[in-house]
Amino acid sequence: MGLRQESIHSVGPKPEKRFSTAIVGGGLAGLSLAIGLVQRGIPVQVFEGATEWTDAGAGLVFAKNSMVAMEKISPDIYKAFAKRSSGQGWESKKTTYMDYRDGSTNGGLITSVICANTGQESVHRTLFAKDLVALLPSGTFHMGKRLVAIDNRPDGGYTLRWADGHSTDADVVLGSDGIKSKCRLLLLGEDSPEAVPKFAKEFAYRGMVPMERAIEVLGEEFARNSMVNIGSNCLTTTYPVEKGTLLNLVACRSIDTWEHDEWVVPSSQEAVRKDFAGCGSIMQKVISMMDKPAMWALFDHPECSTFYKGRFALIGDAAHASTPHQGAGCGQAFEDALVMCSLLDDEQVVSAADVEDALEAYDAVRRPRTLKIVNTSRENGEICMKRGEDTGDDLGKIKATLDERFHWIWHEDLDQQVQQAKLKMREVSKARLPSK
Ligand SMILES: Cc1cc2nc3c(=O)[nH]c(=O)nc-3n(C[C@H](O)[C@H](O)[C@H](O)COP(=O)(O)OP(=O)(O)OC[C@H]3O[C@@H](n4cnc5c(N)ncnc54)[C@H](O)[C@@H]3O)c2cc1C
Repeated sequence: MGLRQESIHSVGPKPEKRFSTAIVGGGLAGLSLAIGLVQRGIPVQVFEGATEWTDAGAGLVFAKNSMVAMEKISPDIYKAFAKRSSGQGWESKKTTYMDYRDGSTNGGLITSVICANTGQESVHRTLFAKDLVALLPSGTFHMGKRLVAIDNRPDGGYTLRWADGHSTDADVVLGSDGIKSKCRLLLLGEDSPEAVPKFAKEFAYRGMVPMERAIEVLGEEFARNSMVNIGSNCLTTTYPVEKGTLLNLVACRSIDTWEHDEWVVPSSQEAVRKDFAGCGSIMQKVISMMDKPAMWALFDHPECSTFYKGRFALIGDAAHASTPHQGAGCGQAFEDALVMCSLLDDEQVVSAADVEDALEAYDAVRRPRTLKIVNTSRENGEICMKRGEDTGDDLGKIKATLDERFHWIWHEDLDQQVQQAKLKMREVSKARLPSK
């Protein structure tokens, strides 16, 4: 892969950190941040609400920025990822991110989008998350700790209250509790319209099938490589995971409103076939492998006026959940984790009182980029369902935008982003000095 290896530690002895940190939510955002903090000598405890692992049967694709961020947080994270990851199955497609095909007809190629150096790699989310937990020191990851409330303490710290009736004190709280985040509600205020996720006017069927079966149904090229099939008001995305032994399936469909209370509702093969009735043969084949289909409503967080207050900040989907159409949501969680652990590692951050400046810098650098990604992801979903405002069903225009629209996400200079955040922290601290 040739990702650059760099030391994660600054040169010379560092002052001991005199603050305690609680991470709420043990998904990939919280886990990667926790590993980054632990490896930089910053004390942290992770509190996960679930009592056991549930397998949503979901894969994740990553392009260059996500892989570079993982390695810069900790080479151990990248190694855990590489142990499981699958790239494109064919040598000739190693730098391809995805092949985009016209799924309305016979799956003819619209464009192969290239991500220089890395191409695309994918992973089984739950298995990867379990490997990351194993990288944490024992006694730092707690399951069955569902946050219900946070009380402010007079010293500027927090008391976190759990559903089991217990509580934990922490000087700093980092909320990585996903799209339905309790932390977000508490930080932005339960009445804030920004606090709740917005329905993205689409839903997805998701599944995973053994590669042998996928090859039988789709043929070698479709099954072993990553494909998006573009249809009218629908699309399918397929990519190999677990070293190419499984094929991950996603089939999205636009819909104006979501009438159910639940976000995941059971469905049937008959309903899926009806939803994809007008599509071409290759999309029909993809959906034919959805054995026990469920409809997953897609929501996102297109707006957020702040990612922090005091010593309390949001990271990952809690801050900027997005639709899946750029394969970028989790990569942004890794970038958040990289910037956050680099700021807290800085020699300027020693006591709890120093942390607010770090969180202000984190917010200034991370919020504009992540919210832009949420919005361009929604837009890309529309383009790939042939209803983009400027592209419609014009395959030439769709190709032109797909060929250029991902590069600003993938080829971000992450060292520069960290540097920018540290400079911002110093500016903020300087401006705050008289009142400190
Ligand atoms: C269909 C689909 C496909 C996607 N594909 C991709 C992709 O290919 N590439 C990519 O980069 N991104 C993708 N994403 C986005 C990606 O899944 C998310 O951005 C990423 O998983 C977010 O991680 P997270 O840790 O922030 O949140 P989560 O994974 O949701 O983790 C949050 C954790 O917090 C816990 N929690 C919740 N509430 C509480 C509470 N009150 N107290 C304590 N713990 C709590 C939850 O149990 C959970 O473990 C996709 C998303 C969807 C919906």
